[in-house]
Amino acid sequence: MTEYEAVILDVDGTILRGDELLPDTPAGFRALEAAGCERLLFSNNPTRDGTHYREKLAPHGIDVDPESVLTSASVSAAYLSATHSGEPVFLVGEDRLEAILEAAGVDLTDDPAAAEVVLGSVTTEFSYSMLRDALRALEGDVPFYGTDPDTTIPVDDGRIPGSGAILAAMEAVADREPDAILGKPSSVAAETAIDRLEAPPDRTLVVGDRLNTDIALGNRAGMDTAVVLTGIADRDSIAASSVDPDYVLDSLGDLERVLE
Ligand SMILES: [Mg+2]
Repeated sequence: MTEYEAVILDVDGTILRGDELLPDTPAGFRALEAAGCERLLFSNNPTRDGTHYREKLAPHGIDVDPESVLTSASVSAAYLSATHSGEPVFLVGEDRLEAILEAAGVDLTDDPAAAEVVLGSVTTEFSYSMLRDALRALEGDVPFYGTDPDTTIPVDDGRIPGSGAILAAMEAVADREPDAILGKPSSVAAETAIDRLEAPPDRTLVVGDRLNTDIALGNRAGMDTAVVLTGIADRDSIAASSVDPDYVLDSLGDLERVLE
């Protein structure tokens, strides 16, 4: 019998690469099912919610309950609606994130002078005027959050700028760091994941391809951790990092070995 009652799975670089299912994902999911492990998907994608991953994984024969998916968008929306209810949020981010925030009851404003909270995230529409307005909003000394720390996002032909790059520009003009980054590996993200699972942290395994988000989240939350070599991390970066996973797996297919 496995000591793990639940597994938190990263998505990009762990289950999928782009739209493609990684080859050992079905074996990994079968091992989880055989071990009777509760499953939570957690992506740092700040523009998607659980419904997207249900639709994305269904053609591959993987059934996902949107309620058992967290993203940095859904975590940010839940956090802002719980802690800043009724306070207008100035968003630098994608329209899809705006829709997720609105669905969670978060008030948004385009007027920097009316902003009581600032949230920064990736947007392909990023511009000089957007940065100028963000500076004005941050001059009000309001709480400043980011969705996720990823400075770049891997794509088929290389990398594109991510939320971390846009947050760095906002930080530079306002001369202040965000009060919190709400996605992995923040304490907000860890607490949200713990709340969502029935299993206690010490019976939960976190599996992901990034040391600074997936593995750091597990270490912070008192969970065991497994890094997979199908995404960002490789053996050299693992050896050089101060963030130590409990297991190094070639792919999700090796979960069977960890769970037995
Ligand atoms: Mg990943």
